[in-house]
Amino acid sequence: MTDPAKRPICELTLTALAAHLQAGDVSAWDATQAYLDRIRAHDGVLHAFHTVAAEQALERAGELDQLREASGVTGPLHGVPIAVKDNMCTRGLETTASSRILEGFVPPYNATAIERLEAAGAVILGKTNLDEFAMGSSTENSAFGASRNPWATDRAPGGSSGGSAVAVAARMAPVALGSDTGGSIRQPAAFTGVVGLKPTYGRVSRYGLLAFASSLDQIGPLAQTAADAALILEVIAGPDPRDATAAREAVGEYRTALTGDIKNLRIGVPRDVLASGVDAAVLAAFDDALAVLRARGAALVDIALPHARYGIPVYYLIATAEASSNLARYDGVRYGYRARIDVDARAGDVRPLTAMYDHTRATGFGAEVKRRIMLGTYVLSAGYYDAYYLKAQQVRTLVREDYEKAFATVDVIAMPTAPTPAFKLGEKTDDPLQMYLADVFTVSANLAGLPAVSIPCGFSPARVPIGLQLTGRMFDEAGLLRAADAYQRDTNWHTQRPALGD
Ligand code: GLN
Repeated sequence: MTDPAKRPICELTLTALAAHLQAGDVSAWDATQAYLDRIRAHDGVLHAFHTVAAEQALERAGELDQLREASGVTGPLHGVPIAVKDNMCTRGLETTASSRILEGFVPPYNATAIERLEAAGAVILGKTNLDEFAMGSSTENSAFGASRNPWATDRAPGGSSGGSAVAVAARMAPVALGSDTGGSIRQPAAFTGVVGLKPTYGRVSRYGLLAFASSLDQIGPLAQTAADAALILEVIAGPDPRDATAAREAVGEYRTALTGDIKNLRIGVPRDVLASGVDAAVLAAFDDALAVLRARGAALVDIALPHARYGIPVYYLIATAEASSNLARYDGVRYGYRARIDVDARAGDVRPLTAMYDHTRATGFGAEVKRRIMLGTYVLSAGYYDAYYLKAQQVRTLVREDYEKAFATVDVIAMPTAPTPAFKLGEKTDDPLQMYLADVFTVSANLAGLPAVSIPCGFSPARVPIGLQLTGRMFDEAGLLRAADAYQRDTNWHTQRPALGD
C-alpha cells in the first residue's frame, strides 16, 4: 500500500499502520488524531472508554514525530495509538478497574507491559471499560455502566475486557491490551469479531496489572489479525525482575513464524466437550472453520478432555479464593476512595478504624465483587479448605494432565470460544451462574497455563460474530499464531466491519 490516503487510517490493520508510521508517510500525530476523532464520534453510544487521554496522547505523538525528524529513530510501534484495559497501571492516568473503590486513583508508575509498549513507540489513547476488577463476562459489572457491542448495540460485547474489544471492533483503536483470567480476552474478542490472544501463563509480566487471581491472570492483545497480535506479543513478552512469575523462556519471533504453512499440523477436536449446550450457529461455524483448516493441509484428530467439564467449578473456587486475598488491600487507606463516616467528636462519638474499613468496602465494591470475596473467604476458611480449595487444586492438576496427554498427539486444540454468540444486555445479569457458563470453553486454558487465541469464524443469524478458539502447547505462541494466521489467509470474517452509520 503506497498511498494511505486511499484507505482511511482507522481502517488499517496494526501491521499496515505501523509500516506507514515507520516509513513516515503517516505521522504519529495524524494517526492519533484520527483515532481520537473516531472515539469522539462513536464512544458516546458504545462506551468502550473510561478515560480518553486526548491531550497527553497528542503531545506524545508530537514528540515522537519530532524525534523521528531529528534522529530517524523509530521503535517497532512508533506512533501506534493503543487502548489499554483500565486494570493496568498507567503513570499519571486514572486507573479504576471499573470500581468505585479506586475512583480517583492515579498510579505513580506504569505496568511493565505499558512500559514496553511506550519504549517501542506506542501512544496510549486511553483506558477501557471492564467488569469490576475483571470479574464478569459482559462488562455489565462495571461501576460506570456497560459497554455496547458495535454489531448490535442492545447486546453485550462480552467481558471482562469488553471495552478493549469494542475499541478494536469499532476501529477506535488499531489494537488494545486486555487481561484474561478465565476468558476475558478471548470471549469478548469472539463476541465482537476481533482476535484475542491469551499468552502462556508467565509469558507477559503481570507487574502493574491489578491482581484478580494471580495464578490465572495474563495480559494479552486484542487485535484485528494474528499478525497484529504477534507484533504486540513480541514487544510486551519476556522476563521481568519485578514479577517472579514472568518466565525466562526466550521470546519468539512470532511474526516470522506466520508462514501460512500448516501442512500436517495436527489439530485436536474434543467432541466430548461440545456434546451439549452449544448454540447451533456456533457449532456450524466451528465445523466450517475446521474444514478450512483441513483444506489447508491440517489433520483433524479426535481427542478427549475428560476433566474439562469440571473447569467452571474449579475455576470459580480458585479464582474467588485468590481474589478474596488480593482484594484485601482495598481498605480506604492506600488507594482512591474512602467512605466518610460522620461522627460528632464533641459528643465523644469515636468509631474504631475498622468502621472506616467496613464502610469503605461496603460502599466501594459492587455486588459481584462482594459475592466473590465472600465465596473465596469461605472456601479458604478452616474446615472448608480441604473440601473446596484443596480439592479444586487437585482437579486443576487433572485438567492440566488432560491437555498434556492430548498434546502428546496433537499440536493445537480447537474449540468454540464461547457456547453462544453475544447475548442481550440484561439477559444474564440476574443469574450469575448463567453468566459464569459463558466461560465453559475458556477457563481450562487458564487453569492449565496454556496459550489460547480466539479468531473470528462466522456470524450468527442475528449477525453478531462467532469465535474459533485454538489452544497451544506451553510457550508455543509461534505455532498457535501460525495456525490462526493460516486460517485468516483463507477467510474474511476478520475484515468485516460493524455498520456504525459512517
Ligand atoms: N468471566 C470470568 C470471570 O468472571 C473470567 C474473567 C476474566 O478472565 N477476567 O471470572
